[in-house]
Amino acid sequence: MLPLAWQRERGVPRSSARRELDYARALMAQLARAAPQVVFSHPQRSDDHHCEASALLAAWAPGPPPPVPAGTAPAMFAGRPALAAIDDGQAPSVPAGTLLRGGAALIEAQSDCPFRAAAAYRLGAAPWPRRGEGLSPLERGQLAHLALAAFWRRVGDRASLLALDARALDATVDDAVGEALRGTAVDERRWAGLPPALLPGERDRLRRLLQAWLDAGERGRQDFAVLEIESPLTLQFAGFALRFRQDRVDRLADGSVAIIDYKSGATVAPGKWFDARPQAPQLGVYLLARRAAYPEQAVGAVAYARLAPDALGWVGIAADADRLPPLSTAASATRGALADWAAVAAAWQASIGALAQEIATGVAVVRPRDTGSTCRRCGLQSLCRIDGLDADAMGETGDER
Ligand code: SF4
Repeated sequence: MLPLAWQRERGVPRSSARRELDYARALMAQLARAAPQVVFSHPQRSDDHHCEASALLAAWAPGPPPPVPAGTAPAMFAGRPALAAIDDGQAPSVPAGTLLRGGAALIEAQSDCPFRAAAAYRLGAAPWPRRGEGLSPLERGQLAHLALAAFWRRVGDRASLLALDARALDATVDDAVGEALRGTAVDERRWAGLPPALLPGERDRLRRLLQAWLDAGERGRQDFAVLEIESPLTLQFAGFALRFRQDRVDRLADGSVAIIDYKSGATVAPGKWFDARPQAPQLGVYLLARRAAYPEQAVGAVAYARLAPDALGWVGIAADADRLPPLSTAASATRGALADWAAVAAAWQASIGALAQEIATGVAVVRPRDTGSTCRRCGLQSLCRIDGLDADAMGETGDER
């Protein structure tokens, strides 16, 4: 809105050609003084048009075109460079007596993909964390675990659960949820960084989850007593040991015990627990550890307690159909492949023992069970470079690609 004459009088940028020429000359002079040797260059063509050098360059004599640096271009374009092939599917074997980190998850990772197990639990590789709004699925799962642990520490067995009237049950659930929210899964600093509405919302979610789970999963069972909560166990393999915590162990009415693991996410059907490379072998690891630690104790059932609000219930196998309904027997879960409970233990001993042997000897090949769901859950593609592997080189892995 300022008058043009006023702008020209005061040398306002872009107010006149004269002012722009003076400015460009000053800039060129400044650039020319910037170093002992200064090279100006200009394009000779722009699309189809021939380009002249700027008049501002007339003060400098044109020199010869600079030489193309030797090395890079010929190496890139003169034929395909020779590639060296290195077989890196073998990690150092594990020194005898090592306590490996990862617990049952290490066995599961080795079964999913040997490279994943070595990368995650020996190299400490982890995918970039996904931070969304609010609590992560892991944090919410841990809170549910803590709330259930706190509840059963207060209540103890099925008879005590049934004896609680509605008011007492509400109060006990509230106490347990409060303890979980004050626990270590989500500390004060984390809560302070979250929207204030989240804490009461999470309290409400946990209350509803516990009430729904007690109705759907616990009341209708045969009598039981909660024997252990978050109990530590160690499993010794040839050459190394694993340590882990079991979510819960119940004493059943017939005196046997049930090994229980809470799962907030998806569970794998029992039939797949006995594949050559078993899926979700966690309960198998717990069973073997329990049998080794307490040989006199009969294990009558192993089960995941599914805490997904739309799919609450038990997924597992029992020695017989009455132990912890509604679980499968070995024969029904495996369509007759494993006739009885003894065959279940023997199958896990064989498959989990073979995976432990792979870990001990350092088998670390990139060999996912499938490149779909297994790799999606893993997230280490930038390290294993599975996308650069020739499909033929992967062998018969059941590759989905
Ligand atoms: S992304 Fe797939 S291939 Fe790569 S380490 Fe993970 S499971 Fe193995």
